[in-house]
Amino acid sequence: MIIVMKPEATPQDLERVSDAIKAKGLGVNVSRGKERTVLGAIGDERVLLEVPLGAFPGVESVHKILQPFKLVSREFRKQDTLITFPNGVTIGGPEIQVMAGPCAVESEEQLLYVAERVKKAGAKILRGGAFKPRTSPYTFQGLGEEGLEHLAKAREKTGLLVITELMDPRDLPAMMKYTDIIQIGARNMQNFRLLFDVGEVSKPVLLKRGLSATIKEFLMAAEYIASRGNQEIILCERGIRTFETMTRNTLDLNAVPVLKSLTHLPVLVDPSHGTGRWDLVIPMARAGVAAGCDALMVEVHNNPEQAFSDGEESLIPDKFDQLMAEVRKVASAVGRSVA
Ligand code: PEP
Ligand code: MN
Repeated sequence: MIIVMKPEATPQDLERVSDAIKAKGLGVNVSRGKERTVLGAIGDERVLLEVPLGAFPGVESVHKILQPFKLVSREFRKQDTLITFPNGVTIGGPEIQVMAGPCAVESEEQLLYVAERVKKAGAKILRGGAFKPRTSPYTFQGLGEEGLEHLAKAREKTGLLVITELMDPRDLPAMMKYTDIIQIGARNMQNFRLLFDVGEVSKPVLLKRGLSATIKEFLMAAEYIASRGNQEIILCERGIRTFETMTRNTLDLNAVPVLKSLTHLPVLVDPSHGTGRWDLVIPMARAGVAAGCDALMVEVHNNPEQAFSDGEESLIPDKFDQLMAEVRKVASAVGRSVA
């Protein structure tokens, strides 16, 4: 349920409505816009049917939210969510942001080299996994906290923002120290405990779509995070499993405009995991931008043949330069820009 307050509503009006909602055992989310304040009742809203909220002083209108996801829905919030970092980088605005870097942090030298190259090409965010969700327990699992330290060093040296994946709530304190964006990987999209935990911190979260998740399940996972207070969520389309075997996954570009219509959250496209093939990354990055994404995530490696993970889908830095040049053209054709 959404309760839109009149522009002249007083803080007391707001409190009275909020108390009435809480008295029914529901939570309240307050969203203050330029002209109006909007209250969201969080929980099973059927209990509110017997409360005449429309008759409370200061209330302009009351709306039922039809979608099962509430806080992340466009019904709840019309304007796009902008995620802004202290260095001025914004995700969700007219400028498309690019996150690039190796699948896994392998060494300090490797990370610094790739960081410098992607920065030079225009990326503002460095990606790199320190904790890797590998299909086999016998393959490289990531450098762990040492990898986080390399990321912090690269951030310090280059001024790039940093994103890395969190797999276990026990690593959350370290994440808070080292990273600017917390990535929740596809395999953990429905790890609800983890979602609640990142919902309680104040750091942006990149939520990757599950391997076989529908768009509704994807948005419900985002709702788990938002329901605990953290509304700074970026949704990542990274391909889903289909019967097709020519590519690692099927990059579902339908999801981009569908998500943009259903939610106010920024949408990112990952053509690296979405295809699993480096030769398809540039065309699908172009397509993602044409479809209306707000950001891209691209795997870049100095020597893909020797990569510890995902070498087959990683671009060499020269190819990443080409990607940036090409997506810049597409962005300008659709009224956006890329740094
Ligand atoms: C990654 O970004 O390296 C990764 C493991 O992605 P996903 O969770 O989409 O497979
Ligand atoms: Mn990867």
